[in-house]
This record gives sequence, C-alpha cells and structure tokens, in this order.
Amino acid sequence: MSLRAIQSRLTAACAAAGRAPEAVQLIAVSKVQPLARVEDVLTQGHRLFGENYVQEAQGKWPDLRARFGAVQVHMIGPLQTNKAKAAVELFDAIHTLDRASLAEKLAKLAQARGASPDLFVQVNTGAEPQKAGILPQDTDSFVAQCRAMDLPLRGLMCIPPEGEDAAPHFALLAQMAARNGLGGLSMGMSSDFEAAIAAGATHVRVGSAIFGARA
Ligand SMILES: *Cc1c(COP(=O)(O)O)cnc(C)c1O
Repeated sequence: MSLRAIQSRLTAACAAAGRAPEAVQLIAVSKVQPLARVEDVLTQGHRLFGENYVQEAQGKWPDLRARFGAVQVHMIGPLQTNKAKAAVELFDAIHTLDRASLAEKLAKLAQARGASPDLFVQVNTGAEPQKAGILPQDTDSFVAQCRAMDLPLRGLMCIPPEGEDAAPHFALLAQMAARNGLGGLSMGMSSDFEAAIAAGATHVRVGSAIFGARA
C-alpha cells in the first residue's frame, strides 16, 4: 500500500457511505517507522500524523516541523501523567484521555498555558481488562466531569478487541458520541478503517498500510 492508495480507498469509503471525503481526516501513524518513510509521506504533501510515544515524537517532530512547515501531530498512545506537560507542548490533539487523574493534570496545564490540545476520550468498548479506556457505562459521567473542568473535548476514540468484528464497537462509540453531543470519532486502523468510515469515523488512524510493517 501507499499513501495514495489509502487516500483513494478512503475517498471510496466516504462515497459509499454518502459522506464528503473532507469529513474524514487521515492520521498517518508514524510510530517506530524509519525516518526515510516518514519524510517520503511528508514530501508527498501529507500533513497529519499520529504518534504513540512522547519521547519518540519529541525526537522527531520539532526537526520535521522546521523542515516541512505546519504539520499536525496527534498523540494516540497511552499517556503517562508525568509526560502530560511535554505532550501538551508537542501535540495538536490527544486521543487517549482515559482517566480522571489525567483529566485533572491536563486541566491544570490548560489553565497555566491558556491553551490545550483537542481531546478525545478513549473508551474501552470491549471492556477488556488489559486495555486502557473508560468503560462504556462510565463514559457519560466521565465526559461530564471533563466538561466541568473546561477541557476542550472533541470526541471519543476506541481500539476494538483484536480478532473480533470491529463494526459493533464502532457503532457503540458513535452512539455514545452522539448522545454526548461530541462530533469527533477517532476509530479505524489499517485493517478496518473502511468499516469505521461507514460507522461515522471523523479520524482514522492508519499506520502499516501507509508506511509498511513496523520493525
Ligand atoms: C499503531 C496504532 C495504529 C495504527 O495501526 P495500523 O494497524 O498499523 O494501522 C492506530 N491506532 C493506535 C492507537 C495505534 O497504537
């Protein structure tokens, strides 16, 4: 696959769902990819990327932004509270707000800086014990809690259980976002982004299908 191939599949999936292609943002997930592959995608004009690790992103994006101009980078990996300050300084959005202690930390940082990245609440739609995220039954109250802290919530994010049909998880996330008045839906990866678009995804996170397999 390549960036162009994924873009045309994205456009086709939007058309099939009766949605405008601009309604879906393609986040190119560049974690642990060789720099040359990332530079290649930047050279092709892509300007929205996703990273999983604060330290890796810190080592990569200041320089790439200096060379390629305005690039948006979204945090899509688990965020430790002690890395929150570095994260809000580096990222345009954080998709992994998954606990109250992190919300409190982000609210303090937003107060101090007078600005905050856009935030997505990660929902553990499969209620998997090993997976991060707010449980579905706790999501409405967590969203209300974040709003009471004045956090700029944009949407919900999920990673469906491996080896399961992702569609019911996407539908559940869409339903929870709608009833909470949230427009953003971060869902869909290399193997299932078309199903996510059919279910209303606004942000798909595609890594290996664009860059190739990760080492
Ligand atoms: C790595 C990762 C992706 C991209 O996965 P691919 O299968 O390579 O497309 C998407 N979302 C999250 C949260 C990830 O950690």
